[in-house]
Amino acid sequence: MSLGLAKHTHAKVTGVERVSLFKVLTIEEADGTHLPSSSVLLWDDELQEGACGYTHICVPKDPAVIRPGDVVRLRPDGSLVSILYRRGSRANVLFATERCNSLCLMCSQPPRDVDDDWRVDELLALIPLIDKDDPQLGVTGGEPTLLGQGLVRVLDACAQHLPTTHIHILTNGRNFQDPGLAYDLIVAGREQTSWAVPLAGDNPAMHDEIMGAPGGFLETMRGLAELASHGARVEVRVVLHAMSVQRLPQLAEFIYRRLPFVEHVALMGHEPMGYTKGNRDRLWIDPIDYMPALQAATHHLADRGLRVSIYNLPLCVLPKDLWPFAQQSISDWKNSFAPECAPCVLKDQCAGFFASAGPAWRSRAVVPITFEEIAA
Ligand code: SF4
Repeated sequence: MSLGLAKHTHAKVTGVERVSLFKVLTIEEADGTHLPSSSVLLWDDELQEGACGYTHICVPKDPAVIRPGDVVRLRPDGSLVSILYRRGSRANVLFATERCNSLCLMCSQPPRDVDDDWRVDELLALIPLIDKDDPQLGVTGGEPTLLGQGLVRVLDACAQHLPTTHIHILTNGRNFQDPGLAYDLIVAGREQTSWAVPLAGDNPAMHDEIMGAPGGFLETMRGLAELASHGARVEVRVVLHAMSVQRLPQLAEFIYRRLPFVEHVALMGHEPMGYTKGNRDRLWIDPIDYMPALQAATHHLADRGLRVSIYNLPLCVLPKDLWPFAQQSISDWKNSFAPECAPCVLKDQCAGFFASAGPAWRSRAVVPITFEEIAA
């Protein structure tokens, strides 16, 4: 399977005294930048040593990984170069924390109970180095609201340095039941921020079992009410798997009836990583087998005026009436296509697959689409 760009490479690094972030700029860009030279990594086509006054790297193992406009983390005693921001990517995220207060069966990034509050300072250093005209930036974890006032500071920095960038935050919504924290986060997030909250079912037993969080449904409902009361922008996410699709049409009705303030509903295929792999026996269902439920839920919401998107599912698995809702949603560095996709005429418009989705995680309905099929 073909795969997007990696997020790390190795290179010879000189001039770095501590773990630091740098903006990669061409010489022309560096001439006109407001950034201090201590935050700039000069780029030239060959990525060779030569420019003075700036930190520089040379001979990266994979030169394609680093490009002008990116923000990289360099270490003084190592050669690891990590890409924290990629210019032009639609998948840039601020990674807030590895900690989480839920334990979802389908978590693709299992949480770790570590003290990583240092990430707040790194994010505060990263945000001013991000291109000001970037249209969207994600915030993810773990559970970002566990940063508490640290997340408030991050959002304040986004408002200051990236005032026109849409900030899209993945949260289980539970910590919004604390009215004080909810207020601070929503005020800091302003109009530019939307909060994406997962719902796994239309009832507490189903939601709590899937989210690994006893009492979580009630807390999330309280959190959603708090978000709504302050006029926050809210997206609801539903991850599609064997357990959640059982009551998908009922969940769509629940969202429409009980959460009328929601501005976007994302119905999304799961990523076969982390806990999802270990829970395959409970979660796997060939997507083609839940298409009737997905059709019912999608049209139920869309017919009532809600904005609906379908993420992470290939076009050949979706009935044609769902194609208008399908998005190319998989982060570029995780995105791949199967060998059988090569002749498909809709490959450029298809979400494809997660790179972690081997043949066992792909639908039996994957077949290249032809012009004749589109016209039929
Ligand atoms: S065959 Fe075409 S529609 Fe199906 S997954 Fe591959 S590119 Fe997408």
